[in-house]
Amino acid sequence: MDATEFRRRGKEMVDLIADYLENIEQRPVYPNVEPGYLRSLIPQEAPEEPDTYEDVVKDIERVIMPGVTHWHSPYFYAYFPTASSFPAMLADMLSGAIGCIGFSWVCRTMSFSPVSIILECHLNWAASPACTELETVMMDWLGKMLKLPEEFIAGTHGQGGGVIQGTASEATLVALLAARSRTVRIILANDPQRPETDITSKLVAYASDQAHCSVERAGMIGGVRMKKIPTKQSNKYAVHGETFLKMIQEDKAAGLIPFYVRTEHTTFFERTKHTHPILRTEHTPSILCNAEQIWMHIDAAYAGSSFICPEFRPLLNGIEFADSFNFNPHKWLLVNFDCSTMWVRDRSDLIGAFKMDPLYLKHDHQESGLITDYRHWQIPLGRRFRSLKMWFVFRMYGLKGLQDYIRKHVELAKEFETLVRADPRFEISADVILALVCFRLKGSNEMNEVLLKRINNGKKIHLVPCQLSGQFVLRFAICARTTESRHVREAWRIISQLAEEVMQELPH
Ligand code: PLP
Repeated sequence: MDATEFRRRGKEMVDLIADYLENIEQRPVYPNVEPGYLRSLIPQEAPEEPDTYEDVVKDIERVIMPGVTHWHSPYFYAYFPTASSFPAMLADMLSGAIGCIGFSWVCRTMSFSPVSIILECHLNWAASPACTELETVMMDWLGKMLKLPEEFIAGTHGQGGGVIQGTASEATLVALLAARSRTVRIILANDPQRPETDITSKLVAYASDQAHCSVERAGMIGGVRMKKIPTKQSNKYAVHGETFLKMIQEDKAAGLIPFYVRTEHTTFFERTKHTHPILRTEHTPSILCNAEQIWMHIDAAYAGSSFICPEFRPLLNGIEFADSFNFNPHKWLLVNFDCSTMWVRDRSDLIGAFKMDPLYLKHDHQESGLITDYRHWQIPLGRRFRSLKMWFVFRMYGLKGLQDYIRKHVELAKEFETLVRADPRFEISADVILALVCFRLKGSNEMNEVLLKRINNGKKIHLVPCQLSGQFVLRFAICARTTESRHVREAWRIISQLAEEVMQELPH
């Protein structure tokens, strides 16, 4: 394909995308295929001779679309939203075209394995300055929209800054590895003879028993113990400071080294405020030689986008005690996947963990806020020009447009909540704070399971469940950019009608 054909095909593809999104609600939101459906639809080998572009495009409807769950359908209410906007899609095209691997601003040497060629590059050889610098500035823009404490903003006198990771799971892992490395460093500084393996074998990290499973995986990958802090329904699933403190004390008495806690936004972010001052001020553990720092990572994967609205910003109170904070603009801020934004209070903690330089010295290597070697802030070396999507979206929506978008989704969730509350057969299972409604039929788990199955088998709307205190609960998340009141009302009509059937068939 040459540039002339690319122009033509590109325009056709934009039409295809616009048609798909404009007409998406006519499609069943959930696919009707069996596992392995696709293999029989395409050849077992890649073609020897090239196929034509027309052949490929024809196969989109035949091969791909039957197996697509349409996350951008206004009838998709499952999981959490994944962002989609036209400005972000256009920026993604440009990012693909520039196609840089923006791992650093400057490069002196590069080593290419496996042939081990060492390329001496000129000082200031640029992997892609725009890719790095736009990211730093976009992270500051977004940090300011969220009213993060100044220490997290790179373009200030603070030591922090922001980086785009691929996912919240990566951010949790990166924070855990940075915390691990910081703790080891602090202990070794005071006890240089202590074997590093002895320290790492005693590290213990914590997360609420309600936490997303990504934190358990981070513990597995990071090779550390991960303990769950028990929560109670009566405390609205918040981590209670005293419970957490008791665990820390018991673990320390057993010779363990508490070093990391991940907290999530829940409806009770208050816990951040309550727990961390205890860690920082009242009970400084001597094991870290009076420098105990349990790294607190806040994962607000979904909720974080709402913090750009002043009325939701209090949910982030307590950020002043955090070492790192992350959320996914690719969930709810109109920046298409992937774009998971992470800020750290002290960038040298990250660089200290990931820089491939055993002689790393914190003060000698501190980077300026505007020239960042992002390869030291993440696990992979290569990185896409993801900040272009933020730049396009932030400029074309403006803060006001983004706030309106969040508020509209919250209003739609409230509308659904009102419908549920008005029906005595149903109950709301958790406070509705943002654009997620957890609800169920009053009655057995079995009845609710059957109801959900019927809903999803109908394929008109799609929901997923969760467990809350042993109860099977249906989740209704406002997800698509194009969801309107009429879609929510139609969804409720379907749920309500199916509930009638289920209640007639099953004892409750
Ligand atoms: N953390 C929390 C709190 C989440 O809600 C989710 C997903 O919904 C994740 C992490 C995983 O997100 P990602 O796919 O970005 O790793």
